[in-house]
Amino acid sequence: MIVKPRGVPITIQKLQAILHRLPESHPSRPEIEQEYSRRKAGYKGELEIDYFISLLPEEDYLIFCAIRLPYGSNYFQIDTLLLSPQFALLIETKNLAGDLFFNPESNQLIKTVNGKEEIMPDPLLQVKRQKYQFKRWLSQVLPNNLPLEHIVANSNQTAKLRTIPGAESIFKEVMVGGNLLFRISEMEAIHKKKHLTPAQLEKVKESLLNDHQPLIQDILSQYSIKRQDIKTGVRCPKCNHIGMSWIGGVWNCSKCEHRSKTAHLNTIKDHVLLYNTPFKNSQIREFLNIPSVQTTYRFLSKANLPSTGQNKHRTYHLELTD
Ligand SMILES: [Zn+2]
Repeated sequence: MIVKPRGVPITIQKLQAILHRLPESHPSRPEIEQEYSRRKAGYKGELEIDYFISLLPEEDYLIFCAIRLPYGSNYFQIDTLLLSPQFALLIETKNLAGDLFFNPESNQLIKTVNGKEEIMPDPLLQVKRQKYQFKRWLSQVLPNNLPLEHIVANSNQTAKLRTIPGAESIFKEVMVGGNLLFRISEMEAIHKKKHLTPAQLEKVKESLLNDHQPLIQDILSQYSIKRQDIKTGVRCPKCNHIGMSWIGGVWNCSKCEHRSKTAHLNTIKDHVLLYNTPFKNSQIREFLNIPSVQTTYRFLSKANLPSTGQNKHRTYHLELTD
């Protein structure tokens, strides 16, 4: 059963909101575009791995996608977590192409694409660290002896996985996505004993959902983008043109002639994605480029957003989810 499904990661949503509203000529644009495609490729890989996971019998596992848990004053994120009374499995997903040489002695991954070599941190080390952190997190939820397993799954089926002679056993830990199901069957054959009662499993599930804290980054400041660099105005839901006009009770796009009664909603979400903060009528009015306090008020009350404070001081909230 999928307990926490995979949504579009908030960072990808944020990068997209910035790209919609940053002028073509802005110097940070190429770097942001690169980061956006890199993250999208990673997300695509995660969705491909989700497909293999979806082939497992639904009743056997509780599945949590992109779960981010507190650890001391920090957090750690697990791409996919499978939980059963018998064991838990942490899956770290990569979407890497080319020749991937895993060196278990130096704990490095050497990726070669078109003759170009790149040394990367070993994803195996990464998932083992997450396993260590998860073990500590879990022990705070309840005393347990739940066995923990880990896998690094590479979604790119054409990558060549290699290692040093004699170390081939690491391919029980690092594999192409297509091998996941078979490896999980092997784990099931080893872990037959139940370590969690249904009530304990439920407790872990609730704690995972309660403790999950999505990563909210301040991308504007990371790329030194100023508020005045960002185009304001309502974004056309069809062609993404910024600056629809509110005429006769409907938003009109001057570029593609699309008409919409609700186009302000994705623009309000853009504002939250960009600035991470609750907002007042005056702030969102400026962002929507509409002069009327009353019209803005009508939009906001119809959107049914949670709010605090009264009248001029009323602040609206919109929670970002991944
Ligand atoms: Zn349009």
